[in-house]
Amino acid sequence: MSNRHEEPVLVTRSTMPPLEEYVELLKPIWDSAWLTNMGAYHEAFKEQLKTRFKAENLELFVNGHMALELTLQALELSGEVITTPFSFASTTHAIVRNGLTPVFCDINDRDYTMDVDQIESRITERTSAIVPVHVYGNLCDVDGIQRLADKYGLKVIYDAAHAFGEERDGVGVGQFGDASMFSFHATKVFHSIEGGAVVFRDRGLADRLYQLKNFGITGYESVEYVGANGKMNEFQAAMGLCNLRHVDEAIARRKALTERYREQLSGVEGIRLCPEDPRVRSNYAYMPVVFDGYGADRDTIFAALKEHNIFARKYFYPCINSYECYRDRFDDSETPVAKRIASQVLTLPLYPDLPEDVVDEICQVILQFR
Ligand SMILES: *Cc1c(COP(=O)(O)O)cnc(C)c1O
Repeated sequence: MSNRHEEPVLVTRSTMPPLEEYVELLKPIWDSAWLTNMGAYHEAFKEQLKTRFKAENLELFVNGHMALELTLQALELSGEVITTPFSFASTTHAIVRNGLTPVFCDINDRDYTMDVDQIESRITERTSAIVPVHVYGNLCDVDGIQRLADKYGLKVIYDAAHAFGEERDGVGVGQFGDASMFSFHATKVFHSIEGGAVVFRDRGLADRLYQLKNFGITGYESVEYVGANGKMNEFQAAMGLCNLRHVDEAIARRKALTERYREQLSGVEGIRLCPEDPRVRSNYAYMPVVFDGYGADRDTIFAALKEHNIFARKYFYPCINSYECYRDRFDDSETPVAKRIASQVLTLPLYPDLPEDVVDEICQVILQFR
């Protein structure tokens, strides 16, 4: 087995467009001195994303979190919101920061998205919405969730931070539910340094989202809402425009690396990989591996990789309902599947510049415990 890497191999590495391409876009920013507040690049980026997401309604934000938080505010939700503890902090924080009460529903053991069979038992007369997450880019059971939402008159807002550009049977993932939030953070499949977008069904929401990301200002002399500052600036939009030119290439490379991992790790007893859904055009955002009855547990594998200067991530660990800030309010034993998967999952390094032989080496480190 090869030796320790000189340079650490991290779980991800931001994709960078050719520097000249970005520099070329800077000149017009200098000439116009228009740096933020819905400038020319902001508008161009928005239009290109609408096309790519096959979406009619889309608003840009400074980051994915503000996009989600302000969307929940725009929908004027109240009471309880059903969500998943198996996600990034942002999902629940967005609910709580809106003065809403999160109610945690467990995940399924197959693709780690919300277990649709358990949602109904979480619905009360105070429930106003469901906030599921397309974890690792695995699509939720969007049809099952919509059926319940229709039956009980609930809004559905997807945390689609992982699902950039994904489609099911040719339909953009943002078309499901009332709204979907996408993150363009530097570590994601596609990025605008920081950035985010919301795709939404009701065209009437556009003005409200626009106003809320601009302090709730509704006219020259009127401020009707308690908004925030969630505007994407021109430097972000320029990075997004550059990266859009290369994202298909980046996803193709992720696909090849994912297949290389899968060839070596699938069919191994005690190792579980996410199922591939033939209806979904995946973006290959993450490479999660669950160790369940394998020759070594997750933490042992994590440590062994670290010995080789390779840093996988325990993503998502811990579950949100066991965070310090929520500990007195929730009990993670109420979502046993999420709690168990969080202790068994490891997300392996995956990014377009990752060399194939490093994938092989990672697999060798893992397979020595077989
Ligand atoms: C990255 C991420 C977010 C937050 O997005 P930012 O753009 O970093 O604010 C929210 N939810 C999930 C699941 C994420 O992975």
